[in-house]
Amino acid sequence: MGAVTETLPEAKARRVAEELRRIGAAHSPAVLASSLGAEDMVLTDLISREAPGIAVFSLDTGRLNAETYELMQQVKTRYPDLDYRIYAPEAADVEALVQGYGPNAFYESLDLRKQCCHVRKVKPLQRALAGNSAWITGMRRLQSVTRKDLEPETWDEANGLYKFNPLYDWSQAEVWGYIRAHGVPYNALHEQGYASVGCAPCTRPIAAGEDERAGRWWWEDPEAKECGLHLNRES
Ligand code: SF4
Repeated sequence: MGAVTETLPEAKARRVAEELRRIGAAHSPAVLASSLGAEDMVLTDLISREAPGIAVFSLDTGRLNAETYELMQQVKTRYPDLDYRIYAPEAADVEALVQGYGPNAFYESLDLRKQCCHVRKVKPLQRALAGNSAWITGMRRLQSVTRKDLEPETWDEANGLYKFNPLYDWSQAEVWGYIRAHGVPYNALHEQGYASVGCAPCTRPIAAGEDERAGRWWWEDPEAKECGLHLNRES
């Protein structure tokens, strides 16, 4: 994570830059979904320099860490020409959820956790993707058991557009090599042992040797650890 350093994967970064330009030209309009994690910052940096026609969006679930909001702010100042969009859940949906079950009901059952993710993430994602031809993510095969078969390109049947995962074959060390070499801003949570960035109550630091997504919904079965944003064949 933050402490990892390795030779910059220049060749891989060049290939990803070419791929982003190709996506931007062939699948316009295209958008990057950024959770403000390290991988998303690599892609945000590459898009700002190599494929400025691609927009970037983040989902403000209302339950993010202060460090994540700080990075959201930094993205706006560091990349002033970037088309950066922030989507929030519908206030009425959040009110109904919290009034019905309480603010932290996601710990009580998988069903309630998925309801919360649906309101705070999936529905805003659908608005963010509407009208686009393709979306891009920072997912990698090595992140978790749910992503080991991740393909670089798929058809997202649920959302009706192409989905690209240009960092699918990158290692964690390669991601950090790029961030260090290019002075890319990153989430301070990574310095505290967080490998994956998500909502504050549902994400925690991981121990050495743990699966990179072990800190997400740690009370659940590893096979269930996706939030509904990535429910295609690879997840
Ligand atoms: S990650 Fe947790 S707080 Fe965030 S939307 Fe899902 S259940 Fe709700």
